[in-house]
Amino acid sequence: MEKIVSLCKRRGFLFQSSEIYGGVQGFWDYGPLGVELKRNLKDAWWHDMISGHNELVQCDGAPSTHEMVGLDSTIIMHPQVWKCSGHYDLFHDHMVDCRESKKRYRFDQVRGRWCEHRDKKIFVSTLAEMEQEEAEVRRRAMKFFKLRPKNADELTVGSESLTLDKLDSTTDVLAPESKTLDTLTEPREFNLMFKTTLGALGGENDTTFLRPETAQGIFVNFKNVVDSSRVKIPFGIAQVGKSFRNEITPRNFTFRSREFEQMEIEFFCHPDESQKWYTYWRDRRLAWYKELGLSDELLIMREHHKEELAHYSVGTADIEYAFPFLPEGEYGELEGIAHRGDFDLRSHMEGKLDPSTDPMTVQLGENGKPKYKGSGRDLSYRDLETNEKFIPHVVEPSAGADRGALAFLCEAYTEDEAPDEKGNLQTRTVLKLHPRLAPIKAAIFPLVKKEGMPEIAKELYGELKQQMPAFYDEKGAVGKRYRRQDEVGTPYCITIDGDTLTDKTVTIRDRDTLEQTRVKIDDVVAEIQQRIS
Ligand code: ATP
Repeated sequence: MEKIVSLCKRRGFLFQSSEIYGGVQGFWDYGPLGVELKRNLKDAWWHDMISGHNELVQCDGAPSTHEMVGLDSTIIMHPQVWKCSGHYDLFHDHMVDCRESKKRYRFDQVRGRWCEHRDKKIFVSTLAEMEQEEAEVRRRAMKFFKLRPKNADELTVGSESLTLDKLDSTTDVLAPESKTLDTLTEPREFNLMFKTTLGALGGENDTTFLRPETAQGIFVNFKNVVDSSRVKIPFGIAQVGKSFRNEITPRNFTFRSREFEQMEIEFFCHPDESQKWYTYWRDRRLAWYKELGLSDELLIMREHHKEELAHYSVGTADIEYAFPFLPEGEYGELEGIAHRGDFDLRSHMEGKLDPSTDPMTVQLGENGKPKYKGSGRDLSYRDLETNEKFIPHVVEPSAGADRGALAFLCEAYTEDEAPDEKGNLQTRTVLKLHPRLAPIKAAIFPLVKKEGMPEIAKELYGELKQQMPAFYDEKGAVGKRYRRQDEVGTPYCITIDGDTLTDKTVTIRDRDTLEQTRVKIDDVVAEIQQRIS
């Protein structure tokens, strides 16, 4: 993981936000190559799910044809949205404060191990990344027990890495930044929404939130979309955009950030069909990650157990990836696919529903009136062919663009061996990104900076640049230029050499197979376009 993080900084994929001021935790900036990678991922999603979708053809595994449209709603919405959606009451994590260091941690994310010296057993926790966790626990335990290096074998460090929420109590815990035991408070609930104020006066009624998900913007626009675009059920509304969560312990590079982008679909269907659509979307989304290059062995689909589901839901599944910063056998969520029944539309109509009631009724406040009033708008749907009026059920595939980009970067990072100019094998770092995701599709090199080669190369570069992101490089040995492109995942390098001057052909080198083929210079643009599509 360290190598990936270092490559990302060195080559301009990711930088810590506000780095020159010491950075701010949980916020990341995408550099010149990173912005292309993430944009390619979002574009691939938008194309494959929405703009490239053919509503006249039934997709494999789908119960019928379906339509897909897009939306771009605001980040700040009416505060009532978050009350009716449930985020105001329910969107929280458990956090603990350390009385000694005054630091705050997310209870389920601080890791550590049991350590034993003589008869005393303590749980030493740390914020260190997984790779350094055991060493860091040992170092802290040695310090705590005042052991010298020569007495290191008097200390036993447990083999199992645990998070704090797995312990019965925190009495024997050495908190990540404390010197004494038992400094953590009881876990408390903490709302993850960022508060903000509308207007200049700033009273309690002017308080609202930065959206913690893009989905609610879709639900509150359901009627607008139906009335304005003639879509018929079953159909999906998709949105890509920023979401904000005040994560207590942002960590693992961009995996858990406080500002991130989501790619969400709310798919509206007839209640009788929702089980089939749930299955369709679950399988379709898993297949999408594989089509773009995530390997089968590192991906899992985790179906939530029946007990974890709300009673109105027929299923929820998470698509998870074995990120290299996680312990062996653990996976991190890339996307959740949830069957949400009619909970959201009805809550925005009638007032926030109580999800524990069956059939669901509006949650009441102490005065016996709805705790959070809905919009009062009719968000039901009338099927004009059957004349049936119903509240659609929703299947929600909700993906993270940053987690996706990180997974593709981790998957792509490879070290292999390739011959240098003299034919000697050298270690090379290569990002084996799918050509659709690669920030630069082709690089153009004149073999030498003379004999008219740069002129030909620059002309070809100009033509390619009209069609795709390309890169021109004439500096240094050609082997070095290949390496620089391999490291950022450029799938094809085109070299203009002596033969080009006589037979008007160039070589195209394939990043992964290292195979070089000669192609007529006039055919290069079409050839690269065909290879990357
Ligand atoms: P987690 O359990 O990891 O906090 P979640 O179940 O709360 O995630 P959802 O609310 O289902 O996540 O959000 C959908 C997707 O948004 C996630 O699958 C993930 O890809 C992305 N996402 C959620 N929280 C974050 C975050 N803090 N940083 C980056 N991406 C996130």
